[in-house]
Amino acid sequence: MSVAFHGAEFCWMNGAIIETEKAVVSAMEPVHLGIFEGIKAYVENDVNSRGRLSIFQWKSHVDRLRRSAAVCGMKVPYTDEELLEATRRTITANGFDTNVYIQPRIWPRAGAPQEVHVVIPVWTFETVLGKDNPRFSKNRRFMISTWRRIASDALPPQAKTWANYGNSALALREAERLGRDGAIFLDNRGFVSEGTGACIMAVRNKKVITPPVTASILESVTRETLLRIVPEDLGIPTDVRDIARVELYASDEAFLCGTGGEVTPITSIDDLPLGREYPGPVTKRIAEYYADVVAGNVEKHKEWLTPV
Ligand code: PMP
Repeated sequence: MSVAFHGAEFCWMNGAIIETEKAVVSAMEPVHLGIFEGIKAYVENDVNSRGRLSIFQWKSHVDRLRRSAAVCGMKVPYTDEELLEATRRTITANGFDTNVYIQPRIWPRAGAPQEVHVVIPVWTFETVLGKDNPRFSKNRRFMISTWRRIASDALPPQAKTWANYGNSALALREAERLGRDGAIFLDNRGFVSEGTGACIMAVRNKKVITPPVTASILESVTRETLLRIVPEDLGIPTDVRDIARVELYASDEAFLCGTGGEVTPITSIDDLPLGREYPGPVTKRIAEYYADVVAGNVEKHKEWLTPV
């Protein structure tokens, strides 16, 4: 009887599909320099491709994986095509035909730092998206963390390294202790940065605003996607600019965006309720459209979908 990781019996490790319980390394591995990606595959529901599982923004995620590796002085010893094939094989080996989260991980080998381990675990997830989905509209009371987001001259938040998540974990633990659902970081200058595992967008005067990459944020694939589709397809203006804490408090709406959290509305920050209606109308509209894009319902954005 094998112990499945998040319900997945198999993963891909260093070139082969193996049982998850056999994906083990020495406790002496230098894990602090590890990097990873968080990618999602959604079941399409467009009339022409209904039921097909497709990876969203594969190319952008693999590009970021390579950039994160480069920051840490590692080379990814597989081509994009090989990584895609490995991902497909892992999903198929597990027999998954529903929404799948894919988390490639890379770290240097003990004693041979020029060589790396590459592991691809996958597991299924439940989306927060969808009209009348209670997971979407549940209340989320957030706080401004007393921990600042790591500055990029100390650890690079723009890269997806595990080390950055120590900072996130401290903020999350503080939020849990204080009975909040999550935390928003300020950067080392005191401007709004990001959440612990997602970027933040606020709605003010019918405009969507979000901090720049220089505000110590991860270069988020979802943020880039929304910055493209929100103005172009929904006609809602967007602005990438520094946001002061007080502006966030006085927003009409705010939501997190990321591969994991998709589009998740925030009810209040430091117990100050945002806007008059929750979830706000702009957040709802964006979430519904994003759900359509990832499910292949928007023909012109099907190029962002890679069938498994
Ligand atoms: N910021 C942090 C700290 C994250 O962990 C994530 C999730 N990867 C994001 C932002 C959102 O990035 P993406 O849209 O690429 O998932």
